[in-house]
Amino acid sequence: MQGRHFLHIPGPSPIPDRILRAIAMPIIDHRSAEFAALGKTVLEGSKAVFKTKQPVVIYPSSGTGAWEAAIVNTLSPGDTVLMAETGHFATLWKNIATRFGIEVEFIPGDWRRGADPAAIEARLAEDKARRIKAVMVVHNETSTGATSRVAEIRKAIDTVGHPALFMVDTISSLASVDYRHDEWQVDVTVSGSQKGLMLPPGLGFNAVSEKALAASKSNTLPRSFWDWEEMIRINAGGFFPYTPATNLLYGLKEALAMLQEEGLDQVFARHNRLASACRAAVRAWGLEVLCENPAEQSPVLTGVLMPPSHDADRFRKIALEKFNISLGSGLGKVAGKVFRIGHLGECNELALLGALSGVEMGLAAAGVPHRSGGVAAAMADLEGAEPGNAAKV
Ligand code: PLP
Repeated sequence: MQGRHFLHIPGPSPIPDRILRAIAMPIIDHRSAEFAALGKTVLEGSKAVFKTKQPVVIYPSSGTGAWEAAIVNTLSPGDTVLMAETGHFATLWKNIATRFGIEVEFIPGDWRRGADPAAIEARLAEDKARRIKAVMVVHNETSTGATSRVAEIRKAIDTVGHPALFMVDTISSLASVDYRHDEWQVDVTVSGSQKGLMLPPGLGFNAVSEKALAASKSNTLPRSFWDWEEMIRINAGGFFPYTPATNLLYGLKEALAMLQEEGLDQVFARHNRLASACRAAVRAWGLEVLCENPAEQSPVLTGVLMPPSHDADRFRKIALEKFNISLGSGLGKVAGKVFRIGHLGECNELALLGALSGVEMGLAAAGVPHRSGGVAAAMADLEGAEPGNAAKV
């Protein structure tokens, strides 16, 4: 296929050339002073993205490893946790907890909205015996394109005065959607490298509160590789307890510099602008955005419902073959019924418009009923948006 591939899945996101060049540097001795300087820079620098002054642990892992780390460092077999069924990724995190002998109360959801703070508050209020040890939610549900209101969930926990730990998956929201680990008193924030951080897959993150560290002193789930204690102790000198992913850390240093240069607020505003334009296109096509609550529609990706009896995967295959664009598939319960347009990471206006052109031509090529004019609607939406103005959305 000729020309540039349009990677518009909701992560991994395209990797900027600056980051690719940084990763291509020669490997260095991970026990050297040169490495320690790099280690300190990325461990300290990552804190700004999580908006925390507390430790950030970086694993050579995918996001799934960081999910597991959050569980094994804080919980014990037989503990009860409260989660919300926002979609496929919330379900996968729940499954991991279950495998470790955790009892998960899973508030059912229809995959068309974020976690409901009122439902969480109601369940915590009933828990007079304070059996629930943690509330665990996915900030940006990548399978649907719904963002949960983390600040409101924090408020729900506080309203009840419930002592549960608060754990949040930001794997597809970090560095794309405003997130405040300290201000929202999140105890463990889980993340990954391959989305808003614009890196290849391969780094997993836990931002850890004092309360979570205290829990890790007495919980009984066994761990070795994921153990925070040894990691944080050795990180103090800029080193890691085992061979780190040195070249990905070069990339992380560059990514953090890029985010700082643009400014996090501008990064978030850009994501909001692009998401609004994408939704304008979907509406103009006469298709439906999967997330029904406008306040929770994701700045990172847009899930689109296919018209009944049209297969999303057939459409995606045709779009890929004819126009060299990769779109996200429907996952789990919505497989075949939904496709997802990623607009995260280094995405900008013209990249989005190119992708939307691919979708519009793909819909026509696949014979999916729709109106034309989605790209024009997105352009009009972008023209009305002040660059850098997050208030538009
Ligand atoms: N959580 C969310 C919200 C995700 O989007 C993903 C991956 O896309 C994961 C967890 C799992 O991360 P990984 O595939 O890096 O293990």
